[in-house]
Amino acid sequence: MMETPQFWPCPLCLKPSRDAVHPSCRQHVFEDLAALPNLYRQLADALEPGRRGDQGRGGTRTAPLPCSLEALDLRARGGIQGVLTSWEDDVRDTLGWEDRPFRGSIEQDVDGSAAFLQTQLAWICDSHPAAKELADEIRQIAGQARRLITGERAPIRVPVACPCGRVLRVTLDTPGERCPGCETQYGHREVLQLPMAARSAA
Ligand SMILES: [Zn+2]
Ligand SMILES: [Zn+2]
Repeated sequence: MMETPQFWPCPLCLKPSRDAVHPSCRQHVFEDLAALPNLYRQLADALEPGRRGDQGRGGTRTAPLPCSLEALDLRARGGIQGVLTSWEDDVRDTLGWEDRPFRGSIEQDVDGSAAFLQTQLAWICDSHPAAKELADEIRQIAGQARRLITGERAPIRVPVACPCGRVLRVTLDTPGERCPGCETQYGHREVLQLPMAARSAA
């Protein structure tokens, strides 16, 4: 046993941590898991703005907005439900537990799997080899749902071309960027003065 404090990478953010996992990192995943069932239900409202409580389904339907399609995807089987249940299946498999029980509707799957993952979160952080992937996927999907519900947009990224040929996707408020191709460090103004790259460039 060594007397000096040990540091090792937090399994959720891979930054050094004195604890086995940063309490704040674990708390964020826990909060996202706790929020997802509610976000799932709120997305239904995001799908039909101004039609809440309207029982009649007749009338003219306007073309779906892109954000409605995104909300539909998240509410479909394989959306939020898919992310949560596939991680529950993975955890059960890793632990050698019996299969996930049949719960019923998509909403019941979301509720059940989110609750399951919350109760297993301490074990996941300690022992699951893909804890970071799980945390990243939960954060990503919860963030996407929140943006759709609040109407907040993801920051717009502009593709600019570095003279070395790399395309950098920068936000308008970026403090600066380092080109991963040639390692040039650009400041805020410099990076925004680079020529725009073709939209289709990868
Ligand atoms: Zn961390
Ligand atoms: Zn470059």
